[in-house]
Amino acid sequence: MPDYNKPIPIPDPFVNKPYWDGAKEGKLKLPRCTACSRVHFYPRIVCPNCGSRSIEWIEATGEGYLHTFAVQHRAAGGWAEEAPFVTAYIDLREGDRIFTVLRGVDPTQPEEIMKKIGALCRIEFEKANDDVTIPYWRVVG
Ligand SMILES: [Zn+2]
Repeated sequence: MPDYNKPIPIPDPFVNKPYWDGAKEGKLKLPRCTACSRVHFYPRIVCPNCGSRSIEWIEATGEGYLHTFAVQHRAAGGWAEEAPFVTAYIDLREGDRIFTVLRGVDPTQPEEIMKKIGALCRIEFEKANDDVTIPYWRVVG
């Protein structure tokens, strides 16, 4: 396996460590507010919906639906080798929306990707190093 050559996030022990720990285990963990019961993404220490600081982490289904996408033709660093590639927003089954690089679609055929709006997508993971595993999403529906 070639070395992962793209930027690697640094997990923040106070904000998003459960998210990254989950990814290492092949699981999607999402923050949920215990006051209003709503899931939010990206992880924050304050609920963006009601302002509560009472956040718990749940294991999510890892499923969502393609909300929208863009074809990236230019990129820097390791991503430049992958261009063109597709970025997307996924409507999470549990609520809120996640930004991702989308696999399983052909960036040279955007009209075909358009037909996948609303399609079921599933999370998958790529190990970047011993500490960080990167989540991606793939259209499966
Ligand atoms: Zn809340």
